[in-house]
Amino acid sequence: MGDLGELYQEVILDHNRRPRNFRRMESPSHEAEGYNPLCGDRVTVFLQVDGDRICDAAFEGAGCAISKASASLMTDCLKGCTLGEATDLFARFHRMVTTSTDQEVEDLGKLSVLSGVREYPARVKCASLAWHTLMAALDRETSVSTE
Ligand code: ZN
Repeated sequence: MGDLGELYQEVILDHNRRPRNFRRMESPSHEAEGYNPLCGDRVTVFLQVDGDRICDAAFEGAGCAISKASASLMTDCLKGCTLGEATDLFARFHRMVTTSTDQEVEDLGKLSVLSGVREYPARVKCASLAWHTLMAALDRETSVSTE
């Protein structure tokens, strides 16, 4: 890893310090709360879906740097996605963070900064919390827990 590891860490720290789309959305079309009891991370995901397309995504919550950076990166990626693309992205992200470290993983652009959590199994739930919450929101579930 070396320098690459530090670069990845820098992106995560930046998103933790200045999370993108970190706001409560007034009258979202979809909304769900997620909780990761293992770490204490809480996130609420808000979506504005128009037809088949996510036109806006935002989140609120409190948690560790990984959970916050993941929600920040996720909401950035979701804007403009169709619901099918969002579900597909969830599956690819989930595969990326749960594939063993001796295996190659797909490059998911800026989301790839989180592939490093594979080395820290306890952190995988932090990284995937926002994504599970996204799926709950799309399924019209109001809350989800990683346990
Ligand atoms: Zn966490």
